[in-house]
Amino acid sequence: MDGKRKTPQVLIIYEALAKRKVLSSIDQKRYQRLKCGYDGELLFDTFVQAQHTSFYVLHDLQLMFNDRFCQIDSVLLANNTMYIFEVKNYAGEYYFDHDALCMGDQVEIENPINQRNGTESLVRSFLQFHGYDIVVKAYIIFINPQCTVFHTPVDKQLLFYSNLKRFLLKLATNSHITQLDTQFSELLQASHNITHSYQQIPNYQCQELQKGVTCQHCGSFSFKITYSQVQCQECQQTEVVQCTILRHIEEFCFLFPFEKLTTKTIYEWCDGRIAVKRSSRITQVFSQEK
Ligand SMILES: [Zn+2]
Repeated sequence: MDGKRKTPQVLIIYEALAKRKVLSSIDQKRYQRLKCGYDGELLFDTFVQAQHTSFYVLHDLQLMFNDRFCQIDSVLLANNTMYIFEVKNYAGEYYFDHDALCMGDQVEIENPINQRNGTESLVRSFLQFHGYDIVVKAYIIFINPQCTVFHTPVDKQLLFYSNLKRFLLKLATNSHITQLDTQFSELLQASHNITHSYQQIPNYQCQELQKGVTCQHCGSFSFKITYSQVQCQECQQTEVVQCTILRHIEEFCFLFPFEKLTTKTIYEWCDGRIAVKRSSRITQVFSQEK
């Protein structure tokens, strides 16, 4: 959770399915929405990293407390303060109508203010329960530079691409990590709850997925092998054969964690286009094969 942000499991599954299966229009939209949200979070991370300052940074924190669940895109900890950030990568024009957030065509969308308030309330209960005297400040960030929001409520702690750098710079000035921040960071990491599946995993069966070797750059199934290299016929990128095989083993295990892993299954997963046992590392993967 600390360090670099991890790609959400559901997004990895969608990426694999998008290559190997025709997604329904609902799944296609969901995939785009998840990807867009994740790209926004990565963009926010670049702003934070640019500060080179002392914060604890926690990504994608998931807390369960008193039968309530919340997921927080980013948390910064310093100065006995927990800064909570909910990142929205919306593009286009939006406006607030009382407490509702609407798109330009008057379609009401999920209000991030309600979402943030729910998160804040849960975190305050969590702090109270554990007896931590930590200040909580929660913000919504409209990270997309192409996003315009009209009628923004002035007191709602909203940030935009244009003022984010200035905001973080101000935050970073005089920021320092206290002993309490360290203890609280450890508590948050220990409380991080990934067993609660808040993301809906799409349905898929092995039979309906296209088998074959895919390019890691463009997703193409078209390739040729030259010596120990696999070369994509679309984007011309190359990869060492062993890496290609390991990547496909990982992909298969990720999509089908309960399937038995054998050289035959991986050979078939690659549509019989690549010889599987080629290195000690790969042989090791199959060492328990019966
Ligand atoms: Zn390619």
